[in-house]
Parts: sequence; structure tokens; C-alpha cells
Amino acid sequence: MSRIALLSETVASQVAAGEVVERPASVVKELVENSIDAGATRIEVMIRRGGISYIRVIDDGSGMDRDDALLCLERHATSKIRTGADLAAIHTLGFRGEALPSIASVSRFRLATRERDALAGTEVLVSGGKIETVRDGGDAPGTQIEVRSLFYNLPARRKFLRTENTESSHVEHQLHLQAIGHPQTGFVFINDDRIVWQLPPAAHLRDRVRDLCGATLTAELLDVPEFATDAISIRGLLGKAGVSRSSRAQQLVFLNGRAVENNTINFALREGYHTALMKGQHPVTFLFIEMDPAEVDVNVHPAKREVRFRNAAWVREAVVEAVRVALESDRASWSRTFRAGGGEVAGFGLQVAGSPASTSPETLPLIPEREQVELRKDWSAMPLPSKPAEDSAPLPRELVPIESAAPPQEPETRNQKPETSPASRDFKILGVLGKLYVLMENAGGLVLVDQHAAHERILFEEMKRRMEQQGVPGQRLLLPLTLEVSPRDGDWLARHLDVLQRAGIGLEPFGAGTFKIDSLPTFLRATEPTQLLRDIIDDLRETSAQTSKLRLGEDMIAKTVCRHAVKANDYLREPELVRLIQDLLACELPYCCPHGRPTMIQMSYAELEKKFGRKA
Ligand code: ADP
Ligand code: MG
Repeated sequence: MSRIALLSETVASQVAAGEVVERPASVVKELVENSIDAGATRIEVMIRRGGISYIRVIDDGSGMDRDDALLCLERHATSKIRTGADLAAIHTLGFRGEALPSIASVSRFRLATRERDALAGTEVLVSGGKIETVRDGGDAPGTQIEVRSLFYNLPARRKFLRTENTESSHVEHQLHLQAIGHPQTGFVFINDDRIVWQLPPAAHLRDRVRDLCGATLTAELLDVPEFATDAISIRGLLGKAGVSRSSRAQQLVFLNGRAVENNTINFALREGYHTALMKGQHPVTFLFIEMDPAEVDVNVHPAKREVRFRNAAWVREAVVEAVRVALESDRASWSRTFRAGGGEVAGFGLQVAGSPASTSPETLPLIPEREQVELRKDWSAMPLPSKPAEDSAPLPRELVPIESAAPPQEPETRNQKPETSPASRDFKILGVLGKLYVLMENAGGLVLVDQHAAHERILFEEMKRRMEQQGVPGQRLLLPLTLEVSPRDGDWLARHLDVLQRAGIGLEPFGAGTFKIDSLPTFLRATEPTQLLRDIIDDLRETSAQTSKLRLGEDMIAKTVCRHAVKANDYLREPELVRLIQDLLACELPYCCPHGRPTMIQMSYAELEKKFGRKA
């Protein structure tokens, strides 16, 4: 006996709806995408009770004639593709012709639409997938769709909806994505008769982000300098170095106008930020990637949220590069604000009676005594790279200004020397808070520097530069050590021997699964070198696929500098503080430590005035 039967069109639609329409937010997404595809310049979305009882989307797009108004409710009816070949290069947000029939099959649905020049429009009422009324109607040109009682005929699905508040926050998030993705389109969002936002069409993405996310966030964003090759172009806004979030909620990526989630891009963002991002944190991005639609498959996920690239490698490279260039551009503007006069730093020039500096200056080195000797020896063993002929006055690069540390001077004598007059400086050091935070004054207001983080950044860049230029000298071990590793680790090590060598780690294969370590970087004073090497392998193996070979060394450096840097509680004398700040300002990425934590915080006069209630 045959048991197979064709499903009725209505049931088939409801089955398909299961994929497309998960909750009110998915209805809103599909309807708004249709409005955008129809060329709307203004879209109004209204929901009631989280969208469960009512959703309405009104647009001023192309509208439909009567035939299309009926046809659009059929499954697989679309104006956006015609042939299989079109599927290989999708230019629109929709293409499956499934959304409207799916939505109409699980709700009480009303469509009113009118083409721009048509005398009359069309109104169609559908209930649970059955067309009940078709008549003339539709007032303004464009399309209006109302969806009532979502899932009224699918109790199983309705049970899975969350509270109205949760559903409406999903709707809002969805609209948020659409509004960021299409700044040139005006949006209005009304929730339970309250206007949540009203966004005018924006000429620039930054305006839209400001309207939607506020000025505070917008001020933390950098413009991505337009980056384009034949195959791909990238633009948008990125969080400055050190700006991050604990979730991906503000990591927005749009591919050809569509909000997407993609691991290739996630990894690339992480790699692009690298030391500018705190471990375990996520960058803030509003990134727009445009590429030939033929190079990307959007037809892999029911909600079209996931994409697949034909050539993931160059997408990755382009994203890494775009992030890098953006962060670097910030360096330039950063220099303008902070280093207007060449980054000069003035000391506080007066000693508080009884402060350690005035009593025993000799006991306050930049680096604790014990480490000083070793560090100086190690560093001086490496010839200083000639500094690239860069912008303004080259700043001293020496790390430990012990010999040059002049005895503290009286304020009067300081002020007589024009080059140390605080007025001529960009920064004036005011003092140190809690033996950790250097307090400074600049034109903008108060600047706080974390002395440990600052020193980490300085050491990190110094070592990186040396490694790039001549490699880190390794120190031969008297007795070579052996390291036993798993086949996978062994394979990884064997492929990275040259990089490790450059980082000062001399390693040689020594029979099955064993390596001989015969030298280690001079600056490294690990008590357990084999354990350290294991840690390095563990940490780096997972990222090695995405990480360039130089980055490998960087990570290792970042780990080791932390131990060498001046700690909180290390008391610094004034000349050392001045030197520290000067060296920091001369860094490539001065505003965060190699682990992505901020090194300095600016508190503007405006902020202070606000705090003191001088200004509203
Ligand atoms: P798809 O978007 O995948 O084509 P839909 O079911 O979402 O499928 O829509 C079917 C068709 O109805 C679209 O191809 C389009 O021609 C038309 N349509 C839907 N919404 C609108 C709208 N707001 N304005 C104009 N035409 C629309
Ligand atoms: Mg659609």
C-alpha cells in the first residue's frame, strides 16, 4: 500500500514557515528586507505586545500591481531571481520567494500595496494561508503589511515564544541591524504606541550610528579608510584600540548590505586588532564589506545570516589589513592631539616634603634594582636599531635612564630654563597616585597613565622592533634541554623552527617526538623553560592558522614583557616618569598595553565640569 501523499499547499507553507518564521523578529526582518529591496526611502515598523499580537511595516517603495500582489503570496514566487545562474550572484536581500507565503500561512495577514503611478492599489486579506478578500485599496504609494496573531494556528510554535519584552527586544535588535546596514533609509520604530526611534535618512554611517547608539559610543569609533581591491572593498567604523565589549553584540558586519555572522571575519577582526584588544573581549565594529556576489554564497542558512566565501583567505587578509590601517590612522590623529608640540613632557618640578624622591633619590630606579642589572645587560647586548627618520624630534629610546637621572631640581631653577617651562609642554606631570597612576595635565584636561601598562607597551615595541630587524639573540644553554611533545605539537614545532629561532629559541629535532632546546632568548629568565615553551605552543597553535609568522614572536614578547615591566608600587623618580611618558608617546600604539588594556585615559575638562555640576 502506498503511504506517500503530497502535502497541501497550506501545510507545505507552514512547514516552510518553520524555517523562515521563528518569532516576531524574523517576520520584521523579512518584511523590512522586502521594503529595502523595493527601494524604500522610509520604513515604519510598529509592533504590539512584542509583535506577537501585531506587526505592521509600511514602506514607500515600488509597490506591486494586482497580479504581483496575489502572486507574491505563492511559494517560490519572487521578482528577484529567474534562473539557477542568478542564484550564483545574488544582489538583493531576498531571493527565495518564501517569506510572504510563510508569514501569511501562520497569521492573519493583510497586504495593501500601490504602485507609484497607479490609480488604485490592491488590498489582500489572508488567514492562515487562505486568501479571503481581494479588493481595490491601498492609499499611499508603497506597501503596507500587517501581521496579526502570529502562530494563532500553530499552538506548538506559539508556546516557544518568550515574554513580550524578550520578543520586542529581538525585534529591536533586528531593526537595529537593518538601520545600521541602510543608513540612507529613514526608519521609524513604534512599540506599543510609543515611538522608540525616528531615524532620518543619514548621509553618513557615522550619523546613523550616532542617532541610534549615542554620541559616547560614536566618539570611540574610527573611520576605516576606504580600502578597495578589484575583488573586495571595505569601509565602516571600528572601535579604537582598547575599546571592546564582553560579547559580540556590537560586532556588526555587513556583507553586501546584509548583516552576517562569519567565523573567517571574526578571526580576521581579532587578528587585525591583535594587541589592541583585551583577551577574551570582542571588538566593536560597524564594518561594511562589498564584494562580487559571485564570490559569496548566501544561500546556506534559512535566515540568510550565514555566508560562505569562495576564497576565505583574501577576505581575511583584506579585513586584517583594513583594521590595521584604521588603527594606524588613529595613531596620526592621536599624535595631533597628544603630541602637538612633539610630545614634550614636563615634570612636576616640585618635591613634596618627605616624599621618597626628595629623601633618597638613589633608591628609586625605573626598574627594580635586581632586574635592572640583567635587563640592562640584555638590552645593551642588542645593538639599537637606527630609528626610522620619522616625524618630529626623535625621542630618546633608552629604557633605563639611570645615569642620566638628574637630582631633583627646585621649581625656581626649572622654570628659568625655557625648555622645561611647563607652559611649553604638551603634558605636565602632576604626580603619581597610589604608586601606579601618573597624573598629568594636558590641553584637554586630566590624563591618567597606568605606569605598568605604559612600560609594558614600551618594552613590547622595543623588543618587537629588534626582533623584526635582527632577531632576538639567543643565549646558548650550557646543558641543552630536551622537550618531548605529541606528534601534533611536534609537527607544529617543526614548521615553525625558523620563527622560533628569530625569537631567540634554538630548537632542533632530536628523534621521534623529541626536540633539543639549545638556546633561549637572553631576556627570558624562565625558571621552567620547557614548561614555558609548552605554554607558548598551546597558546599559539590554535591561532597559528590565522596568524602571520611575525605575530608568533609578538605574542611571546607580550607574555614576557609583562614580567619585566615596572610594577604598580614601584616608585619612580621624576626624570624616570618623564622618560616613561616620552617613550610611551613615541610608541606606535601608545594607548594600550600589549594585552589590549588601556595605558592612558583622558578626562576632559567637559567631563570634569559635568561631574562638578558646572555644566548640565
Ligand atoms: P523574496 O523577497 O525572496 O523575493 P518574498 O516572499 O519576501 O520573497 O517576497 C515575494 C515578492 O513580493 C518579492 O520578490 C517582491 O517582488 C514582492 N514584494 C514583497 N514585499 C514587497 C514590498 N514591500 N514592496 C514591493 N514588492 C514586494
Ligand atoms: Mg523577501
